[in-house]
Amino acid sequence: MTLNESLELLESPILSTQAPLIEVQNLKKYFPVKDGFFNTKIGDVKAVDGVSFTVNHGETLGIVGESGCGKSTLARCLIRLDEPNEGQVRFDGDDWLALSSNALREKRADMQMIFQNPYASLNPRLKVGQAIGEPLEIFKRASGQALRNEVLMLLDMVGLSASVIDRYPSELSGGQRQRVCIARALALRPKLIIADEAVSALDVSVQAQVLNLMDDLKKELGLTYVFIAHNLSVVQHFCDRVAVMYLGKFMEVGATDTIFERPQHPYTQALLDAMPIADPQLAKQQRAGRHPLVGELPSPMNPPSGCRFHTRCPECFAPCALEEPALLAVAGNDAHVSACHLSRIEREEGIMS
Ligand code: SF4
Repeated sequence: MTLNESLELLESPILSTQAPLIEVQNLKKYFPVKDGFFNTKIGDVKAVDGVSFTVNHGETLGIVGESGCGKSTLARCLIRLDEPNEGQVRFDGDDWLALSSNALREKRADMQMIFQNPYASLNPRLKVGQAIGEPLEIFKRASGQALRNEVLMLLDMVGLSASVIDRYPSELSGGQRQRVCIARALALRPKLIIADEAVSALDVSVQAQVLNLMDDLKKELGLTYVFIAHNLSVVQHFCDRVAVMYLGKFMEVGATDTIFERPQHPYTQALLDAMPIADPQLAKQQRAGRHPLVGELPSPMNPPSGCRFHTRCPECFAPCALEEPALLAVAGNDAHVSACHLSRIEREEGIMS
């Protein structure tokens, strides 16, 4: 499909609806842990433990959380680099997890991934032109001069000059390499791009350039992103909605403004309290009221009972260790959900008064 055809398709009523592009229900991914001479299974690392969400066409969902919370495993399960143990994924009308390997190979053109490390995700033996053109050749979308023209157009789209087409990745800067990765991800005109810490390995100034590029491409091509990051400032700038993940589960999900201005879950509040403030005066004023996270992330092999965050939560009270809080709407707003007993009590008190 050419760029013009893609743009025409974006204007069609099919893509102007707000039906979710991807719907995820109760997704789980456990990794068995084995030990001893007989390699006996002694437990499971519950990397993703019952996650549900939707992403609409043209939307960017940010997934944030500490390292080890399961966000990258979730990304790999979505694109089926890892097979989930349980759950359902509906992508663009297909039962995504039920697709055979042949069907998946075809459909994967619609879902592409950008990885964290632009140094490791490009084959050092392939020139830039070959790396970007490879998916087009594999999917038999173009060959010969048409392939070269398509690669040149993709290079232009990501702001790289035509002269890099015959260079090797080792001859490019980190920012240029990530642009090549983006061009490669765009080559098949995907509907969804999963960006897993796509700018984390880049310098701050290059991060801004790449994020602006991704934002421009989103508007231009109507892309949908699942954007995984641990840098909250980046997520605030780039995402329409945010899901906060802790030990394999979502703790809070809502519109970006709501999450950053009125966080409900103590974990979200702790993450926001840990965000650096550029103005030293402001930082001094605000430090007293902040409660950044303390302690280590518990083992996902043996997560705490009840609320998984209770071992680190400054608001922890009696029921927290006993009963797992459900992800429920905050203040009657179905678009903002939080998994905390405090939110539930506040909501019940609100109903009583
Ligand atoms: Fe804290 Fe309890 Fe809420 Fe969990 S349920 S976040 S421990 S107050």
